[in-house]
Amino acid sequence: MTGKAKTRKTKKRGRRFAKVDPVRSATMRAVRSRATTAELRARSLISQLGGRASYNSPTLPGKPDIIFHSQRKAVFVHGCFWHGHSCPRGGRVPRTNRAYWVRKVASNRRRHRAAVRALRQLGWATVTLWECELKNAARVSRRIGLCLA
Ligand SMILES: [Zn+2]
Repeated sequence: MTGKAKTRKTKKRGRRFAKVDPVRSATMRAVRSRATTAELRARSLISQLGGRASYNSPTLPGKPDIIFHSQRKAVFVHGCFWHGHSCPRGGRVPRTNRAYWVRKVASNRRRHRAAVRALRQLGWATVTLWECELKNAARVSRRIGLCLA
């Protein structure tokens, strides 16, 4: 985002922001950006590949984040922490409620494996993109390109 665009946006919304509790609003913003940044990044990379992707598939097992319907390919975009990726971010478990988080991540992984199996039975192939991988556009392009080939 350019500095100019940011200024314009702030000016336009200035009044509304003034009424919102600043602490809460910052928290909400942070949560929202964490939840969607990786997925938006994946979508933008994939749209550059020219595939005919759709982003809503509530009826498919595991609700894949991106699907290529005609090719029957489903893409999951996984947060490294939430799905316990073997990278520095994925290996970090919060110190408090450790057991809870370990269980939570294990259950996310289990649910994902079940979804992949169910999709396979329906004739769908799956690709899992990790949040940390999305920093490498060439790598993502290669993986998606291979899956669509
Ligand atoms: Zn990772």
